[in-house]
Amino acid sequence: MFNAIVVEKNEDGKTSASVQQISEDQLPPAEVTVAVEYSTVNYKDGLCIGPGGGLVRQYPHVPGIDFAGTVEASDDERYKPGDKVVLTGWRVGEVHWGGYAQKARVKADWLVPLPDGLDTRQAMAVGTAGFTAMLAVMALEDHGIKDGPVLVTGAAGGVGSVATAILSNLGHEVAAVTGRPETSDYLKDLGATQIVAREEINETTKRPLEAETWGGCVDAVGGDMLARVLGQMQYGASVAAVGLAGGAGLPATVIPFLLRGVNLLGIDSVMQPYENRLRAWERIAKDLPMNKLEAMIQPAVLADLPELGRGILKGQVKGRVVVDVN
Ligand code: NDP
Repeated sequence: MFNAIVVEKNEDGKTSASVQQISEDQLPPAEVTVAVEYSTVNYKDGLCIGPGGGLVRQYPHVPGIDFAGTVEASDDERYKPGDKVVLTGWRVGEVHWGGYAQKARVKADWLVPLPDGLDTRQAMAVGTAGFTAMLAVMALEDHGIKDGPVLVTGAAGGVGSVATAILSNLGHEVAAVTGRPETSDYLKDLGATQIVAREEINETTKRPLEAETWGGCVDAVGGDMLARVLGQMQYGASVAAVGLAGGAGLPATVIPFLLRGVNLLGIDSVMQPYENRLRAWERIAKDLPMNKLEAMIQPAVLADLPELGRGILKGQVKGRVVVDVN
């Protein structure tokens, strides 16, 4: 028997999450059993611990969209007991049981070896949010980052914090958009050179084009903010659209695309091919300073997760939560 967060659907249709003991034979069938060491809290986890958000298909459910740990048993020749591994994506923690447990059983195709230079705790301090931030930076680089500040929206959140630290370490000026002015010092310590108040950039404008300001953008917010930012991009600059913390709509015009050659790049972390995953994790180990990663960490245990899940849905979690499941 081992501990897990189990989410159940009650008779009134509402969900409730608690730490429970489950047995290994309750784990779903798959090739690799992992002794999980650390997991984390992403926005999607907030949905899956709580109301489900249409992501969870069956209850009882074990959430946790990412984890790092040690292989305990494997029917796949790519992995053997003792190997350190990381998992993000593939709808684990949504349709498949996830990492909020001391053990997980998953497909070998979904795993990557723990990258050199990171331990399992650091890998989950990065987690899906940080992995996605790296994918966004790589996409911006592929399209060329212009001189001048790179905008990061939702900066004090998980994706935003890691994007800020990576971009700054790569030598870019970073303008961090936050709705929490009290996080200014934290964001400056991560490398932000400019703090932009959320309300400055959150409102819709009737002008499709404003001053050419940003040399690139990692956007975790979407909605009105993304629409506004498109009209503030420099000629030929790119926005990596990562998230929807501020809404799934996009009340924009096509004018920034047509008159300024602005690029809107979609970023998906869930179905990334294996080679891209390896490339992103290698870049994380190289380009994300570990002292800055440490500054983002908020430690937690399984019992903290129901509250943290509610917190991240309200935009109250700062940086990266690292959950020690043991
Ligand atoms: P967090 O909650 O940690 O960060 C989101 C941040 O967005 C908040 O901290 C807050 O930053 C800001 N924010 C929240 N609500 C609003 C609002 N109404 N208007 C404007 N800003 C707001 O979440 P994550 O960093 O884990 O994820 C960010 C987004 O990226 C989510 O939408 C998530 O679903 C998505 N995502 C997408 C992935 C993909 O594969 N495409 C992978 C991972 C995440 P501040 O307080 O600084 O303003």
